[in-house]
Amino acid sequence: MTDKITLFWFRQDLRLIDNPGLFEASKNGAVLPIYILDNTTPKMGSASRWWLHHSLNVLNQNLDNSLNVYIGNAKNILLEIIQKNTIDAVYWNRCYEPYRIANDSLIKSELKNLNIECKSFNGSLLWEPWEVLKQDKTPYKVSTPFYTRGCLQSASPRCPLPKPKNLNLLKDPFNLKTIKDLDLLPKIKWDEGIKKCWNVGENAAQLKLTKFLEDGLKDYKENRNYPSKKNVSRLSPHLHFGEISPNQAWHAVKAQGLSQNWTKDGDCFLSELGWREFSYYLLYHFPNLPNKNFQNKFDNFPWVDNEFYVKSWQMGQTGYPIVDAGMRELWQTGYMHNRIRMIVASFLVKNLLQHWHYGRDWFWDCLVDADLANNSASWQWVAGSGADAAPYFRIFNPVTQGEKFDPDGSYTRFFVPELSKLPNKYLFKPWEAPENVLKSSGVVLGITYPHPIVNLTVSRNIALEAYKKL
Ligand code: FAD
Repeated sequence: MTDKITLFWFRQDLRLIDNPGLFEASKNGAVLPIYILDNTTPKMGSASRWWLHHSLNVLNQNLDNSLNVYIGNAKNILLEIIQKNTIDAVYWNRCYEPYRIANDSLIKSELKNLNIECKSFNGSLLWEPWEVLKQDKTPYKVSTPFYTRGCLQSASPRCPLPKPKNLNLLKDPFNLKTIKDLDLLPKIKWDEGIKKCWNVGENAAQLKLTKFLEDGLKDYKENRNYPSKKNVSRLSPHLHFGEISPNQAWHAVKAQGLSQNWTKDGDCFLSELGWREFSYYLLYHFPNLPNKNFQNKFDNFPWVDNEFYVKSWQMGQTGYPIVDAGMRELWQTGYMHNRIRMIVASFLVKNLLQHWHYGRDWFWDCLVDADLANNSASWQWVAGSGADAAPYFRIFNPVTQGEKFDPDGSYTRFFVPELSKLPNKYLFKPWEAPENVLKSSGVVLGITYPHPIVNLTVSRNIALEAYKKL
């Protein structure tokens, strides 16, 4: 160990275990741990801000109350800290959002000019996007070859690192800001539901992974499609904020899959982490992914602008129970099951013909796992405009999807309680229920629950025509 002072900049890696940048910083000597809420970069959604507040609190506790927090322009703040304190080195783990990459290279060159050692590490991805290329050295655009040929045939993801031993943590005496000063919590108390659903922070993420290994991984491959089954990990917000690393999840699942003979479930879970890698890969190689159609022929797609459709979708009032259940799950919990995300997204862009940007933005604001790479890539995938997109003729039918993936209706009944007394036969298509069934179930269409806002067959045909013309 040297007697250097290293500033460690926490970003999307709010953890102590398997944190490569922090691990290396701690080897140098004392560490000044900081977090900057950069108010010059795109604003985080409301649910993410809520999560961040709690996650920083846990991180601060785990750092024995030594986390230094700031708000403002990251470059200016870093330079100010360096000017006021004796700092020899600045370390961080890399992020892959285009604006972060641009800021980071600017900061690196400024620090170099000041003769401050500056190092970045990989703490969020299993494979660096620039390391996985096709034989002709161009990036993959299709997920399966990217994952099976590109990733799986490269070096295996590194094993997780332990928590640094004997962290010697410093406080910045010139900074008095607290996490509360970052003003991340909502002024209007809409967060009661979310609060009940989540334990935030590194310790909770570890527990969640352990629980998933014990109770969720077995039969993951089949049951991951059913929103009422407990087979998905719900690790996404923890992964997004870096409370757990993909390497921890990868190695733990691999080991459990092998030891229990659940390799098909383990491999399926690992391939989902592969989708996460692919989203980051696309964002890195194609930085316009969040805003522009990946396939530019979609620039001519005849989207319809209909505020009523967008509002009904956002509020879970479309008249299609599985869609409404998903949108209400999102609003109440900050999360939505992957199968349901695909159904509601397909409904918005295909049946309602609303631009995928509307969905992207609503998800961005409401999801606790809102993630620029995953959200952008997934919306483009569903819209058909993405790199490796869903075929245009795949338009999810919300009635048959509900019947298939929520066969006993428990998920839908939970989030759409006004339909809870409807028999299964009509739960996903209440407009077909005879008057006496509606009456005995306490449903008055148009009053207690909306009529469908579009006709499925008509809207599907219009969408197919529009897609075919492209
Ligand atoms: P698990 O099934 O337990 O999967 C484990 C991990 O693998 C997830 O935590 C996630 O990191 C990754 N993963 C799983 N499925 C996908 C996928 N299809 N694409 C990329 N990574 C995946 N995921 C986000 O993390 N943030 C988003 O903002 C986001 N927006 C989405 C928007 C749409 C329209 C759709 C269809 C999907 C979106 N997803 C997003 C992907 C996926 O729905 C979530 O990652 C998943 O539902 C998280 O639940 P889980 O952790 O229980 O997943």
